[in-house]
Amino acid sequence: MIDLHTHTDRSDGTSTPAELIAEAKGMGLSALGITDHDTFAGYDAAVPFAEAAGLELICGIELSTRYQGQSVHLLGYFPVRPPSKELRKWLDFMLEMRRDRNNRLIAKLQSLDVDITLAEVETMGRTLTGRPHFARVLVDKGYAKDIQNAFDLYLDESARGFVQRQEVSMEEALERILASGGVPSLAHPVRVAKNNWEKLAAYVEDLAGLGLRAIEVYHSDHSPENVSFYQSLAQRNNLGITGGSDFHGANKPLIALGTGKRNNLHVPNELLEDLRTLAAH
Ligand code: AMP
Ligand code: FE
Ligand code: FE
Ligand code: ZN
Repeated sequence: MIDLHTHTDRSDGTSTPAELIAEAKGMGLSALGITDHDTFAGYDAAVPFAEAAGLELICGIELSTRYQGQSVHLLGYFPVRPPSKELRKWLDFMLEMRRDRNNRLIAKLQSLDVDITLAEVETMGRTLTGRPHFARVLVDKGYAKDIQNAFDLYLDESARGFVQRQEVSMEEALERILASGGVPSLAHPVRVAKNNWEKLAAYVEDLAGLGLRAIEVYHSDHSPENVSFYQSLAQRNNLGITGGSDFHGANKPLIALGTGKRNNLHVPNELLEDLRTLAAH
């Protein structure tokens, strides 16, 4: 069993890198991909623990990009060569845009009579502070009953507290990942076009033309129908396949490492070898 999409507490998961490695090893995963939002800090910290545990660790990242007026998540994998200094430097710029969004989000929430400060939220995050950290504070202070409720009431794109973060373009994100020897993979395509399959088909074709190399076929939010359709899209567009749970620990309590939601996830081991081959070309 492998899991190529997970988050540590260096982005918006709740497990420390050491805890995530221990959990992965304990449940018998043969390889683990760490794909924190906007940072390699969780991966970097996990390397010695994975070595000690004899667990294969894959370096990854998840970026929020802008494409055709929509926010789209893009994964990048570095199974052969480590990410370049240039890429790491560019991520500092992502963190900067995040801090700017967080300042505006605090102001917006305060304008909605929510008693919240940036300092409170920042104590929740390590390398970066994301909306799930805001959600945690909203729950702790009684403004929402759980994390999901905090998103529904305040933080979701459709909610009244939402503020837009400046996002990089899909084109630039693809270019940067490719230039660093990485494999860009479209994250959880189900969120791109819900179940509008024709729209998604056109979309994936466009992205393949822009340099996309893989798509995330296996994910905790994908139904068996989604999985077979995305498989056919990968085949049709000559793209590789990736998969993972999108584990966030207690921030997404329904998602289990390796096995997804109620055991709905089975990521084939062979994907890893294919990913290496893709990265080597
Ligand atoms: P940020 O990158 O700080 O804007 O936060 C985005 C993260 O918040 C996503 O990666 C998810 O983990 C989480 N998230 C976004 N929208 C929702 C939602 N509607 N419900 C629950 N979690 C969400
Ligand atoms: Fe997240
Ligand atoms: Fe995502
Ligand atoms: Zn994710």
